[in-house]
Amino acid sequence: MEKDRKTGFGTKAVHAGVHPDPGTGAIMTPIFQTSTYVQAAPGDHKGYEYARTQNPTRDALQQSLAELENGTYGICFSSGMAAMDNILKLFRSGDKVVAGNDLYGGSYRLLTKVFQQLGIESAFIDLTNPAALKQELTPNVKLLWLETPTNPVMQVVDISSVVEIARASGVLVCVDNTFASPYLQNPLDLGADMVHHSVTKYIAGHSDVIMGAVVTRNRDIADQLYFLQNAAGAVPGPQDCFLTLRGIKTLHLRMEWACDNAMQIARFLEAHPRVGKVNYPGLESHPQHGVAKSQMRKFGAMISFDLKEQSVGAAHTVMQKTRIFSLAESLGGVESLIGHPASMTHASIPREERLKSGLTDSLIRLSIGVETVEDLIADLEQALTL
Ligand SMILES: *Cc1c(COP(=O)(O)O)cnc(C)c1O
Repeated sequence: MEKDRKTGFGTKAVHAGVHPDPGTGAIMTPIFQTSTYVQAAPGDHKGYEYARTQNPTRDALQQSLAELENGTYGICFSSGMAAMDNILKLFRSGDKVVAGNDLYGGSYRLLTKVFQQLGIESAFIDLTNPAALKQELTPNVKLLWLETPTNPVMQVVDISSVVEIARASGVLVCVDNTFASPYLQNPLDLGADMVHHSVTKYIAGHSDVIMGAVVTRNRDIADQLYFLQNAAGAVPGPQDCFLTLRGIKTLHLRMEWACDNAMQIARFLEAHPRVGKVNYPGLESHPQHGVAKSQMRKFGAMISFDLKEQSVGAAHTVMQKTRIFSLAESLGGVESLIGHPASMTHASIPREERLKSGLTDSLIRLSIGVETVEDLIADLEQALTL
């Protein structure tokens, strides 16, 4: 019965994981701001012993996230990077990770600067070409890590195709689904073993929380991740879990509005004389527009574009002139942000590396929020005026 009530995404967003508080009837899951739980006798407790291990506010959120991604198990961490760190700890020295070559800067840093030293190697390849993947899958490759749409060049990877290739070699697949959110794309339905989120972005959605999550259907992986969550202890606090549960209730509304805004802004940019290339999966000019159409509900709210004049200075000038778009790292909140990946989010990637993946000196990244689209377009228009 309960399951039947929650088939539509909006219904799940509002209700999944959340039950009236048995003690009071409170419709919202309380913020259980406690470190420990009283036991009637040693070992006689209500399922909660210590809050690194279990917290009811976190439980509600984990259940909600599991359902939103059509998974079985949701595990939350204190940040997106902590979630990735725990996933990578599933592997051993001598194992290798293959990842996309257009990756969140922090993910690249964790792989190359932290896990490389621990003996877990990584390779970065263009996953829009599945043939290239086949050659990389030597027997020591244990994990394929990918983002789609990618950050910040907005390439789209055909999840089903790469999963098929990885599966044939016994390689686990984790999709960092941060840019799409569970509303637009559900990688587990396309065969992925794990979905990773920086919950900080669309899921929490209001630029007030740092959090990460992993969702899977695989019991064995979930058990190992719960073990690591408790053993290493990078758990989110109950206040952040509460704010995220609240944010999730409007995830579908925010995504619909932001995606519609983004589509109009992408068309405006494409027609602008100062603008070079516009990277947005919703444009017919996007090389993987067809793949995006087949695996995403809408095309997302992230856009990047570069200027015809290729200089850091020109990009910086545009970014300093916007009045509604705020110059900031991050994405996925209700407010629109503008950023310069080469000097901000992706500064840790060497220039030659980033140029190879289309991350040019003048590339500007937009996170489109839910403001009135005419105002956003007018803001970009004046910022682009010389
Ligand atoms: C922000 C982000 C991360 C890292 O998440 P944090 O919550 O900042 O630790 C990972 N992947 C992508 C795609 C991101 O945008």
